[in-house]
Amino acid sequence: MALDRSTIWPYVDGAAGELYYSRYDHPAGLTAERALGKLDGGRALLYSSGAAASTALVLGLLEPGQTIALAGGGYYGTPLLLAELRRFGVEHVEFDQAGRPPEGADLIWLEAPSNPFLTFPDLPAAAEHPARVVVDATASTPVLLRPLEHGADLVLHSATKYLGGHSDVLLGALVCRSDADWEQLKRVRGLTGPIAGPDAAWLMLRGLKTLELRVLRQSETALELAHRLDAHPGVELVRYPGLGNPLAARFMQGGFGGLLSFDVASGDAARTLETSTRVIKNATSLGGVESSIESRHRWEGDRVPEGLLRLSAGLEDVDELWADLEQALARVPERSERRD
Ligand code: PLP
Repeated sequence: MALDRSTIWPYVDGAAGELYYSRYDHPAGLTAERALGKLDGGRALLYSSGAAASTALVLGLLEPGQTIALAGGGYYGTPLLLAELRRFGVEHVEFDQAGRPPEGADLIWLEAPSNPFLTFPDLPAAAEHPARVVVDATASTPVLLRPLEHGADLVLHSATKYLGGHSDVLLGALVCRSDADWEQLKRVRGLTGPIAGPDAAWLMLRGLKTLELRVLRQSETALELAHRLDAHPGVELVRYPGLGNPLAARFMQGGFGGLLSFDVASGDAARTLETSTRVIKNATSLGGVESSIESRHRWEGDRVPEGLLRLSAGLEDVDELWADLEQALARVPERSERRD
């Protein structure tokens, strides 16, 4: 579609039409929201980043005195954001998302699969809980998982990752099952102003054209790399939902997503490895067409093992990626004993 960057549209016979001021709606945003809503089976709203979508969810749907049960081991920015929002009276507790969410929570916040531990939520157990359930499905995308079909009330995406897909757009989204949640979130978005701009929405529309092809290919590549890493003597542990996780098994389509993580023996080994790859970029984030790898300890500290490396599989040839990992692994010391 042609990109319209207008912030205003003329009134129609003296009255505001569907489009009048871009803090509420603009053509690329509406088109992209319809497309994502269709993919996820709900009603979508776009935000200027995944973090903005997370903030909007808390400000829009929760009250002071309420508690969020947050999946432990998920995107490290989410508990940091929720700690900041504690000033407004919303508490959070972390729990193991492979089990039952705690009683008394007012919002269950899952991540499928979690970044960077790659755990998978027990969706039926969460759906039985009386609270609203949100699933951060950034790393699975609607190609692999449509959480609203499994009892979730909301889906959260950092569209910066797979939905955009080319590491060139910062974008977030919420997809709602209920009209009431969508209307409330849309009202608060209009008041607080974190709507995604037209360029970002347009870039997501471009990304959606190849989403399925990319995600299926990246899943296949990640599964193959996970198997080869698992068999390599320099690797202590591989985390990937496609390696026998029963909660993820029913959603598998030749692998489950392009994201995996693995541990080498130490922080030094991880740093050697991440700076030795030639094809795989030593960079943060995930979900782009080019593969990237990084030690997560630099950001997450003792929340993750020092030797943990997160790898986002891109669209390069799997043998080329493996050759790159193999030559980088050859520079790190071999494991002493396996933990799995
Ligand atoms: N959720 C997950 C699972 C993420 O990985 C990220 C970012 O890495 C976010 C949310 C936040 O998204 P953004 O960086 O677009 O604000």
